[in-house]
Amino acid sequence: MYTIPSIPADRLPELLRRMPKAELHIHIEGSLEPELMFAMAARNGVKLPYASVDELRRAYAFSNLQSFLDIYYAGASVLLHEQDFFDMAWAYLQRARADNVLRADIFFDPQTHTARGVAMGTVVNGLYRACRQARTELGVDAELILCFLRHLSEAEAFDTLEQALPHRDKFIGVGLDSSEVGHPPEKFARVYAKCRELGLHLVAHAGEEGPPAYVWTALDLLKVERIDHGVQSSKDPALMERLKQDRIALTVCPLSNLKLCVFPKLADHNLKQLLEAGLAVTVNSDDPAYFGGYINDNFVQLHEAVGLTAQHAYQLARNSFEASFAPPELKQRYVERLDAVFARFQQDPTGAP
Ligand SMILES: [Zn+2]
Repeated sequence: MYTIPSIPADRLPELLRRMPKAELHIHIEGSLEPELMFAMAARNGVKLPYASVDELRRAYAFSNLQSFLDIYYAGASVLLHEQDFFDMAWAYLQRARADNVLRADIFFDPQTHTARGVAMGTVVNGLYRACRQARTELGVDAELILCFLRHLSEAEAFDTLEQALPHRDKFIGVGLDSSEVGHPPEKFARVYAKCRELGLHLVAHAGEEGPPAYVWTALDLLKVERIDHGVQSSKDPALMERLKQDRIALTVCPLSNLKLCVFPKLADHNLKQLLEAGLAVTVNSDDPAYFGGYINDNFVQLHEAVGLTAQHAYQLARNSFEASFAPPELKQRYVERLDAVFARFQQDPTGAP
């Protein structure tokens, strides 16, 4: 990898916004903006427990992961028809395009919907149609990752997998999300073994609020290819070494960690420390409608808090492509586009895009 010359700190936000990137940790239900939520509630005749968009936004003052999840599940209740799932994903994909995201590996939570009587096909078909359209109309490559809700049982996860199998060609992997503490990865070891047999990519949330032990079991028992969050890994030097040696990517979400009080201030965030320790760290938005920003907001606010360099920026973008589940020839093309933008920016950091 070449060394990036230094670029003035005040030009970094522009570079961060302009550089091509992949987003690897985005829950599509967490991209549902209050305005769209209220529009869907009206057209579907669903009553929300909030009187207005403003009242809903004011409720977004979270004290921990659970306080967020309670509102998140209430918000998802407006999603009933295939078109609702399409509209939600399409809104996200347009924002991704505007943030120069070339590739998105998108999480969805089918159990949040099937538990309300919405059919698996309604969910998957709406999301998949938006992903296909994004490729041709927006130039964004997007694929779906089905997440199991870890506060539910192993049997319910198996049941969800069964329902999803008729749609096997429309998703590329599985993940594990929702309330982490008290629901260690090993609870789903047999489900993941089955998914591995099916040739699905494997990821899991671990080490967000939970201990480094959860990251170890996600790696050793679930055999995941990436760790979602993983910020607690810095407490365990042996784990840090393992993540580095095996080039296991961490999909870190700075504004989410701030809003859910994983770190008291953004300036306390350990992303730069993890990156400088040689880990394959990436920057992502998690649930952008709830946490106050999309991927570029995460990059820029992190930079303002901890002071990223152009070298950090390049490494973060490059990590995102290399850790994505895109085929090798596409990854190479993404990195070429990244290199081209950096080369142009170095020649003229004040110029127009
Ligand atoms: Zn997440």
